[in-house]
Amino acid sequence: MGGPPMPPQLPPRPAVHPVHDTPPHGNGGSTLLRIPANCERSPVMNDQADRPLQFRVLARDSASRARLGRALTRHGPYDTPAFMPVGTQGSVKGVLPDHVAATGSQVILANTYHLMLRPGEKVVAELGDLHKFMGWPGPILTDSGGFQVFSLSDINKINDDGVTFKSHIDGSVVHLTPARSIEVQNALGADIIMAFDECPPADAPEPYHREAVERTLRWAGLCREAHARPRDQSLFAIVQGGTDLALRERCARELIAMDFPGYAVGGLAVGEGFEAMKGVLAGVTPMLPEDKPRYLMGVGFPRDIVAAVASGIDMFDCVLPTRNGRNAYAFTARGAIRLRNSKFIRDAGPIEAGCDCYACVHFTRGAIRHFFFAGEMLGPVLVSVHNIRFYQRLMADIRRALAGGTFGEFRADDPRCSLGPTEPDVESPAPQ
Ligand SMILES: [Zn+2]
Repeated sequence: MGGPPMPPQLPPRPAVHPVHDTPPHGNGGSTLLRIPANCERSPVMNDQADRPLQFRVLARDSASRARLGRALTRHGPYDTPAFMPVGTQGSVKGVLPDHVAATGSQVILANTYHLMLRPGEKVVAELGDLHKFMGWPGPILTDSGGFQVFSLSDINKINDDGVTFKSHIDGSVVHLTPARSIEVQNALGADIIMAFDECPPADAPEPYHREAVERTLRWAGLCREAHARPRDQSLFAIVQGGTDLALRERCARELIAMDFPGYAVGGLAVGEGFEAMKGVLAGVTPMLPEDKPRYLMGVGFPRDIVAAVASGIDMFDCVLPTRNGRNAYAFTARGAIRLRNSKFIRDAGPIEAGCDCYACVHFTRGAIRHFFFAGEMLGPVLVSVHNIRFYQRLMADIRRALAGGTFGEFRADDPRCSLGPTEPDVESPAPQ
């Protein structure tokens, strides 16, 4: 028979839009969970209807502080505990938004620092706001730029007013203040925006942590005053204080008194170690208001996420799935695999058996290894897709366990709950 050969059968293009509710793969996470009758329920909060972020706790674990929840923003809902892929420069590197949605991701993060320096928030706003810019009509969170200023840039001066630094792009001198960070985030238009905070390194001396907490508190007040779009965007405050619990508690108490719509714990996963992180979370998270979302910034490995969920954290972001994906490092339930390894040359299996992601459905390990060695873009793209899906399957399974009252068994039995760094070089993700 003549005619051109038929193209291989691909699965239907992920038809989901982040604003709609059904991921194409299994029950990847955005479907509403059925809450069994024996789960403790929160009272329905009718007083939230006019807020830009409504949040409900739907179930609580009886043996830990973990909770299942659902948030509703002006750009749609997301289920918690939630993992946000990082779209540093307005793009989840290499992954089409439809494919990000197909991993079960419902909310994503973008970096104020990068977008402020290039192309500039005014350009993003002129092009129709960050949702349009990123091709992502669903919920978005922007960070304040603080973390990048303190970790990436050549800082000239920190004072009570703000930070003066040299742009890592062109060396120009930039002055970032709490009001300026909020001005940028108001222009970008994300659903959740973050207060500008000071984030010292974990090993900073105690007086510096103390000073940073005082500044973070003062700046949180200035951010709230500067916030020009409180009906559209929810401003979260960030608890700092290093590993000093008393300092953390003071910071949390003061911020809670200022009544923000959500709270983040910052300054962790910066080299303090897993046990120290758990210690801080055990002290701080129970202090945070029950009826507001809690966000642990920049964390982490599956082990860290599961432990933080158990302490009562609802939201996460981390560059690990995408950064490691670009380096041929794939997460699997049995541990990481490095796809550049020669043992994969003729490996006909998927990255992870049983994974329903685009990469695992369509490509062999051998092919993906070849793409990396040939410098083909598809290699980093495919492993990023797999890794994001790996994280979203973990989150969906955590939510399912919370809904079913089996989170304790899940933590004890599921091998993913102990996956931490396998090599020192990936212990602390560098800022992106
Ligand atoms: Zn996969």
